[in-house]
Amino acid sequence: MNRDVTMTGGCMCGAVRYATTGDAFIVGHCHCESCRKHSGAGVGTLVGFKADQVTFNGKPRDIYESSPDVGRAFCSKCGTPLTWEGEGGDIGPIVEIHIGTFDSPHIFVPTSHAFYNERLPWVDKPEQLPRYEGFPGDSPILQHGPTKEGPLKA
Ligand SMILES: [Zn+2]
Ligand SMILES: [Zn+2]
Repeated sequence: MNRDVTMTGGCMCGAVRYATTGDAFIVGHCHCESCRKHSGAGVGTLVGFKADQVTFNGKPRDIYESSPDVGRAFCSKCGTPLTWEGEGGDIGPIVEIHIGTFDSPHIFVPTSHAFYNERLPWVDKPEQLPRYEGFPGDSPILQHGPTKEGPLKA
């Protein structure tokens, strides 16, 4: 990635927006319970920057202090989880952004698994679940086999 590249993102309702400049120092999955709780997902995937590489715009983000000196930001209007913010040791203050909030999240590719010991047990299971273009069949959504279109082709 280019040093001068700017990436943008924000919450679901668009009230909180941000821009990042330059390279992320890490793109990684985090399996810690706090990241699960904050993201609401089975695993958190975060893109880390030095704090001075990140600019917030629009409505100020709200910050929940999940542990001393660690902030987890979110939009108080729509509830989207946005960041982990705190001291990054030698790096100084850092802001790690939930990958799904970027406008172009596909640009970032995770390269590591943090707190792997706290992972959910299915994380490394072979992925042989059926794939659908949308929801599987009619509602209730989890009680049907493949739709008439069949599983998505790779
Ligand atoms: Zn929002
Ligand atoms: Zn974590």
